[in-house]
This record gives sequence, C-alpha cells and structure tokens, in this order.
Amino acid sequence: MSYNIAIDGPAGAGKSTIAKTLAKNLSFIYVDTGAMYRALAVFFIRQGLDKDNEEGICAAVKNATVTIEYKNGVQQVILNGENVTPYLRTEEVGNMASASSVYGPVRAHLLELQQSLAHENDVIMDGRDIGTCVLPNADLKIYLTASVEERARRRYTELVEKGENPDIEKIKKDIEERDYRDMHREIAPLKQADDAILVDSSNMTIDEVVETIASHVKKKR
Ligand code: C5P
Repeated sequence: MSYNIAIDGPAGAGKSTIAKTLAKNLSFIYVDTGAMYRALAVFFIRQGLDKDNEEGICAAVKNATVTIEYKNGVQQVILNGENVTPYLRTEEVGNMASASSVYGPVRAHLLELQQSLAHENDVIMDGRDIGTCVLPNADLKIYLTASVEERARRRYTELVEKGENPDIEKIKKDIEERDYRDMHREIAPLKQADDAILVDSSNMTIDEVVETIASHVKKKR
C-alpha cells in the first residue's frame, strides 16, 4: 500500500519548498498539482480564451492531455506531448490557473491523474483540495499557512533576488485576491480538512517546518 501525504494551504505558504525537501528525505514522489492547473492554463491562453469564458474553457479542456514525468527527480508537466514546465511560473499563467480552476470540468479533468499517482506511489502531494477532495484518506494531512504579510514579503524577496523591482503592496493585493478566490469557490474550495494538522510557518524556518512535518510522519508510520 502506498503512503500518501497531503499538503494544502494558500499561495506562498511554502508548500512546494517543504514538500520537495520532505520528498527527498523520505524517498517519496513530490506531486505539484498547482503545476497541473498551470499547464491547463497555458493551454487556455494559447487557445486565446479569456479567463471568464467558462463555456469556452470547459469545452476546450477536453482537448488537453496533461501527464507528468520526472527528470532527475524533478516533476515535468507534459501538455499534449510537449514539456511546458518552463512556461508555468509566470503571473499570467498563475492568474489564469487560479481563475480557470474554479470550473468543475477543469478540476474533474485532473482528479483521476492525481488519484492514480497517489494510488501507485508513495507521494507528497500539494495543492488546495488534496486533503479534502483528492485524497480524503491520505495517511497524513498538513494545512500549511502563513500570514499574508509574510507570504508577500517572501514573494517580494524572491523577485528582488531575480533582479526585478516589485511593488510589495501589489503583491499583497494579488495574494489576497487569490486567497479569496481559492477559499470561496463552489467546488473544492481551499480549507483545512477536519483531520489535518495546522502548521503556521510565519515565524518558522524551512528546516523547522520540515522537521515538524517529519515528526508527524514518524509518529504515523
Ligand atoms: O500552487 P499554485 O500557485 O501553482 O497553483 C496555481 C493555481 O491553481 C492556484 O491559484 C489554485 O487556484 C489552483 N489550484 C487548485 N487546486 C490545486 C492546486 C492548485 O485549485 N490542488
């Protein structure tokens, strides 16, 4: 039987950094479900679809096949045979992913792939609805969060390190909007599962968060 860890939480809480490190330490596969929604977003953008065009997006999603592969242990997302991993992390793609993921057919399109990966492998899967919808029977569920101010500060530092000149107030506003949309959508909204452990990383280092979650894995396994 595979062992499944679900990590949910808002954008910028550190889910992917933590999940990657934990996956390496435990020899699990890291599954980044946000990247799958981002790959579909690339498809919708290329089709010239507007994020509010629900009908167009729900019809188009049938023509998008998303799979994942691992290159040197790093997840690659394949869209209709093309590796789109380099195009996933832009603001445009993030905004389209956030808007299009509210539509039922878009979510249903990825559900089976996510569940079969978890069925066949020991996984750490991160997203918004993993503990609540995708893997309701996960062995360990973590809800990882941090204050809006701290998440904005982390994103700001990341962009400055990339040589950009970001506006922290704008970053904060984007985060608040994305939180609102993720938490208030009708289907699979972001919320802490009843049996999830809450970890607030606002005042924790990456190592402290990894250690905290690893200690729960030890207790459960
Ligand atoms: O985590 P990331 O920012 O890459 O996710 C992009 C968008 O995909 C999120 O804003 C969220 O709306 C959506 N998403 C989702 N369910 C998941 C993972 C991501 O709705 N399991």
